[in-house]
Amino acid sequence: MSFKIRLLVCFICVSLCFVPNSVAQKSGSHPTRNRAPMPAEAKLLVENAISVVCTQAKLDPQSSAAIDEMQARPSLPIHTPEAKAGAERAQRLLPVAKSLMIRSLRQLVAEYGLNKSPRFETRLRHATTRVNAVKSVRPDMESRDNASVFLSKPHVITFGTIFLAGLRSDEGMISVLAHELMHIADGDHDGLRPLVSAVGNRASDLTGLDVRGQRGEEITCDLIGAMASRAYIASTPGYESIARRLARSVQHNCVEIDEGDEDHLSPRNTIRALLALNPVLVRELINDREERIPGRKL
Ligand SMILES: [Zn+2]
Repeated sequence: MSFKIRLLVCFICVSLCFVPNSVAQKSGSHPTRNRAPMPAEAKLLVENAISVVCTQAKLDPQSSAAIDEMQARPSLPIHTPEAKAGAERAQRLLPVAKSLMIRSLRQLVAEYGLNKSPRFETRLRHATTRVNAVKSVRPDMESRDNASVFLSKPHVITFGTIFLAGLRSDEGMISVLAHELMHIADGDHDGLRPLVSAVGNRASDLTGLDVRGQRGEEITCDLIGAMASRAYIASTPGYESIARRLARSVQHNCVEIDEGDEDHLSPRNTIRALLALNPVLVRELINDREERIPGRKL
């Protein structure tokens, strides 16, 4: 492996993410940056929503396994039935995940006011081309509970077999696929840096946590994952509770052992920051009801 290869291993990627140092030093600011922290009532709502997610993790037969639980499992050979089922689910959902990820990315760009910049629009077009070029998911026993993207091979998402088996729902799988696709969209030159920096800064302001640098990229990927999963739920109505389905997109963070590192918030702080950035998702989890946002297709 050349040192020029940039490997991104995700949340989930608790300790293995390798990115150039320069990434960690990048900063940017959103033109309408609001530095105000969340009011106490909003913080309480976020904690209540986390409680819904992590209660569903215990009740839902299709809940995603928690990261620490996956880390504790022995390696899982590719041909075991649960690994094969996960790989088939991931490959089947890849086309829809790509489409929903691109829609979610455009929505986020508009929310952060970057859609008026012709220069950013060009970056966005290149990002979309990179996402559309992704063709397959490669199951890998050695990757265990990680998913990763080699930016030298941007057509493939590598998925650890433990992770494939731990994502037991379409909602959970789409969330993780969209997370990886967001890394690919950003590419090896950080083409979406203005957006990533703005999201990271906003998460820092709202929560008081340090969500800059690579942590900003990871939380942006998580946010896109949750948005894509939410859009999937809206487009595939069923009899299951909305809160239960939404919870699947983030509940791998419901860990007992809550440890982060330089590049990642801890899993429980990840879900905290993610929900702070997405008050609609917070309300939908608590109220168990989908909200229609005027003028928005998602
Ligand atoms: Zn990641």
